[in-house]
Amino acid sequence: MKRGKAPVVKEGGPMRIRKDDVVVVIAGADKGKKGRVIGSIPAVRKVIVEGVKLVKRHQKPTQQQRQGGIIEKEAAIDVSNVQIICSKCDKPVRIGGKKLEDGKKVRICRSCGEMLDLS
Ligand SMILES: [Zn+2]
Repeated sequence: MKRGKAPVVKEGGPMRIRKDDVVVVIAGADKGKKGRVIGSIPAVRKVIVEGVKLVKRHQKPTQQQRQGGIIEKEAAIDVSNVQIICSKCDKPVRIGGKKLEDGKKVRICRSCGEMLDLS
């Protein structure tokens, strides 16, 4: 890949990926990995995905666990590096928006129109 100008980051507003979404990683070392979003940090536009970007951390011994040791924990990744998986299409899709009759905004799959906020 050619190294040119840095891509313009033009993201703002609320994040479209939320906790409990099932996403796939589309860039980086964990590309292709699927997982559930277990946390998000909107301030830095990052999400934590179950089983993705595991980093080893040293655990200090506690009273319950005298030995301490090394545990694996997920690190946050850029929200732009993941894409939501539509359960109907069973593939990564783009998210669209739709306003319901009661004024509530929901996210929909741009591919099939399925609502992504059913729960
Ligand atoms: Zn779909």
